[in-house]
Amino acid sequence: MMGTTIDLEEIYAQMGIEKPVFDFGKKIAKELEGRFADIDAVAEYNQLKVIAAMQKNRVSAECFNASSGYGYNDLGRDTLEQVYSDVFHTQAALVRPQITCGTHALALALMSNLRPGDELLSPVGKPYDTLEEVIGIRPSKGSLAEYGVTYRQVEFLPDGGFDYDGIRAAINEKTKLVTIQRSKGYLMRKTLSVKEIGELIAFVKNIKPDVICMVDNCYGEFVETIEPSDVGADMVVGSLIKNPGGGLAPIGGYIAGTTECVENAAYRLTSPGLGKEVGASLGVIQSFYQGLFQAPLVVSGALKGAIFAANLYERLGFTVLPNGTEERHDIIQAIALETPERLCAFCEGIQAGAPVDSYVTPEPWDMPGYDSKVIMAAGAFVQGSSIELSADGPLREPYNVYFQGGLTWHHAKFGILMSLQKLYIRNLVNKELMC
Ligand SMILES: *Cc1c(COP(=O)(O)O)cnc(C)c1O
Repeated sequence: MMGTTIDLEEIYAQMGIEKPVFDFGKKIAKELEGRFADIDAVAEYNQLKVIAAMQKNRVSAECFNASSGYGYNDLGRDTLEQVYSDVFHTQAALVRPQITCGTHALALALMSNLRPGDELLSPVGKPYDTLEEVIGIRPSKGSLAEYGVTYRQVEFLPDGGFDYDGIRAAINEKTKLVTIQRSKGYLMRKTLSVKEIGELIAFVKNIKPDVICMVDNCYGEFVETIEPSDVGADMVVGSLIKNPGGGLAPIGGYIAGTTECVENAAYRLTSPGLGKEVGASLGVIQSFYQGLFQAPLVVSGALKGAIFAANLYERLGFTVLPNGTEERHDIIQAIALETPERLCAFCEGIQAGAPVDSYVTPEPWDMPGYDSKVIMAAGAFVQGSSIELSADGPLREPYNVYFQGGLTWHHAKFGILMSLQKLYIRNLVNKELMC
């Protein structure tokens, strides 16, 4: 039967979304149907890629058993690592709950593959904030700098392109590892497509073939049908409480790459001599499998949410990055809200739309390491998980909110409409633009 109309307006009204906000959202979503179909196709491709890897490695119920103690011969853990290396088309992978977060995974990949006297190069400008202390850009105990690993950085050109001359000049006999961050993170630079990453790696390897190319893959997994490891990266690294954990993994990180790189990481994570042989998976391994299985769909929902918000707020006159029509290479959306009142209202809306902690009101606070107050909204099942719908922004010009995630498109949509509802009732948007 075609054309059955379910009264969404009524349930949205019950949830506190007024008709003008609902209608505006409906119009924007309608215009995006074509793009959403493309996103669905990427998700479908990646879904099959994940299923193929699980079938090839004969994933079975036994894989979900919890191991304890040393974790010798943990079938579930070893099989999952094979599944990851097939999904990323690498020789090996390390996927562990003992890797506590994305920063830890990246630090592990770097510290295990660099030796005193080596040099690390970032050809894509400043890395993610937390890596500054790992590298020692900001002095920190245990940093690479303390171990005698030096660091160089080449900025993007003003037009956003790679500074190939600068990169050529920066590569020297000490350069051992090149780190490439795929996502913009919380900077106003562009996110790199996998194709662009491939071009950069080819350029670097042409100058110095034995240099290790590592990609910080955070927020990028499953946004495209290929990953940086398909275009020459020796290692891709990320967090399981972002894209590849599918919202189900309660902790963890991964490193997928060459046997050599992954072994180095394993010997550093556990101990020389032990490597991948130890490391009990405790009770979390099933959520790693199931999360990976869900990840293509979850990422597609987060992407739809980001694009929906970009178009909604762009139409209301705000600067959004990426803009409403740009191709996506990660799941982060920035919106310049221009005033602290709007930034707070936006975050209150995201919080109010959450399944968890919806009754709390986020307040700006002095977060360590920031020079202004920061407001954050998150009502997550997994603490700090940013594949779940979350938003934050520093209270300073231009009052950017950065938001990402949403385990389902419908939740992302609801959260975004709730953010607009908060702006709407406080007269913080130009209502004439909502028609
Ligand atoms: C989130 C993120 C990290 C760090 O991950 P944590 O889990 O927060 O430690 C590193 N790089 C990028 C690009 C990220 O988005």
